[in-house]
Amino acid sequence: MLIDAHCHLDDPAYDDDRDAVVQRARSLGVASWIVSGTEPATWDRTAAVAHHTGGLATLGVHPWFADRVPDPASALQQLADRELSGIGEIGLDWARASQEAQRSRQRQLFRSQLALARERNVPVVVHCVRAYADVLQILTDDGLPDAGGLLHAFGGPLDAVRRATQLGLILSFGPQIGRDRAKKARAAAVAAPLEHVVVESDGPEPGHTATVLQTLATLRGEGVEVLTHRTTRNLRRLFPHL
Ligand SMILES: [Zn+2]
Repeated sequence: MLIDAHCHLDDPAYDDDRDAVVQRARSLGVASWIVSGTEPATWDRTAAVAHHTGGLATLGVHPWFADRVPDPASALQQLADRELSGIGEIGLDWARASQEAQRSRQRQLFRSQLALARERNVPVVVHCVRAYADVLQILTDDGLPDAGGLLHAFGGPLDAVRRATQLGLILSFGPQIGRDRAKKARAAAVAAPLEHVVVESDGPEPGHTATVLQTLATLRGEGVEVLTHRTTRNLRRLFPHL
């Protein structure tokens, strides 16, 4: 069985046909999924959708929403008050933050949520765009929770593959590895050690993970069954309840 390491099945656009989406995913062999929350206002929905569909939720403040959280300390307290299987998605996105004030806000939120993950010893789900050097530096300096972490939609350079796997991070590959233009992501998907690789739909349809897995198998020259087994095993190292 295949598991989607990162999806947004809680997208309200799917409220009317979520059952069909779930059935479609199951018919494609995708048996479970991690639904990652993005901001305090929608954490309840994320948790409810994950629960009702047989998935698992992680909650966090996504770097895109760093500006929409008026009081980071209160957001952190709300997060700390919850039952948590993981924290995320959290991280840095320099494509969405050109000014230093925005970047420093993202850094602060990332580090405080990372600290909570260490305190609770739950894994982190990290979003990283054009910020691999900074994300890996923070994870190195501050430290990961013993429960580990996952870099979702991995598209970093080979140097980042090496540094991330040295830290014990799991690299999650999404639909972008199917695009010829995504050279870095495809090269990383080939180079990453098998015990650090998982797959994701990175969208509202977990069923797309089956296509990502097939692409990964072709790129790496490995069998679909072997990769299905190994990616599920890798993901369960972080999330034993999946
Ligand atoms: Zn996401």
